[in-house]
Amino acid sequence: MRRSLVAGNWKMHGTRQSVETLLGGLNQQDWPEEVDLVIAPPALYIQQCREALEGSPVSLAGQSSATQAEPGALTGEVSPAQLRDAGCEYVLVGHSERRSLFGETDEMVCKKFAAALACGLRPILCVGETREQRDAGETAEVVGRQLQVVLESFGVGGLAQGVVAYEPVWAIGTGLTASPEEAQDVHSMIRGRLAMLDDEQARCVQIVYGGSVKADNAEALFAMPDIDGGLVGGASLNADEFGAIARAAGRA
Ligand code: PEP
Repeated sequence: MRRSLVAGNWKMHGTRQSVETLLGGLNQQDWPEEVDLVIAPPALYIQQCREALEGSPVSLAGQSSATQAEPGALTGEVSPAQLRDAGCEYVLVGHSERRSLFGETDEMVCKKFAAALACGLRPILCVGETREQRDAGETAEVVGRQLQVVLESFGVGGLAQGVVAYEPVWAIGTGLTASPEEAQDVHSMIRGRLAMLDDEQARCVQIVYGGSVKADNAEALFAMPDIDGGLVGGASLNADEFGAIARAAGRA
């Protein structure tokens, strides 16, 4: 049976003071035991989060990492080995903001996935279509292509060592959520595609949904058979809201 996973992506938000307040709120939550819980703070605050979350079930993730595990002359980058050293267990790879604003290609995303796995991190591979691509009926093709490059290198078993996050670009940070049925359609398409390659492993892959998940829409989304939790942006900056989303995943 797959476990649910709820991850919070703090993006480029926070100061030491606001992070302390948010962590205080997170430490007051009643966390569900059956859900994998993750937060992805800005890299600067990972250490602060690690100390404050000592003994908590909440794991840490990087928001991005370099395409290589080895140290090197890559000014401004954070390596997956450094994230691991700092206490992270996960890292986001291929978030749509990295793809669209920082020019990350499928090939770079695949290298990041590889480097993360090599360092013992679980990569959370983000895939998803734009509004134009959805309107043109290209969702399956776009998502399929984003997955394909990783599948060619690692197979379904490799993908299962990470997590897939289906995040329709038009739903990220917009307040527009895919309906549970729309999201389920894509999740089931993804799992079906994986099952054609390896049925047994496909059933193990955690596929979470991201795109304006809130406490009041989480339950309906997570009730869908192929939605194994959520990747939460804006709502993860509020501890009570994030806690409520995690508990919704626990009830699913
Ligand atoms: C995200 O950043 O991955 C995300 C899903 O953001 P939001 O929940 O704010 O749409």
